[in-house]
Amino acid sequence: MKTITCRQMGGMCDEPISGNTPDELMGVGMKHLEVAHPDMAASVKAMPKDDPKMVEWGTQFQKTWDETPDSM
Ligand SMILES: [Zn+2]
Repeated sequence: MKTITCRQMGGMCDEPISGNTPDELMGVGMKHLEVAHPDMAASVKAMPKDDPKMVEWGTQFQKTWDETPDSM
């Protein structure tokens, strides 16, 4: 399992987000956004997946995942 912070996912707080796979982590992060930062969740959902900002985010997210050591 890997744990990164909301901030590392592009968010604005230091809430830890944990997951066993990048997809799982992304799902948990999205749930956190919906609860803690609903405005941000709405703008992320409104953005097309092939938007350059989302593509760049995906690349950065994968890099953060790769660089984060497993905690288990
Ligand atoms: Zn947050």
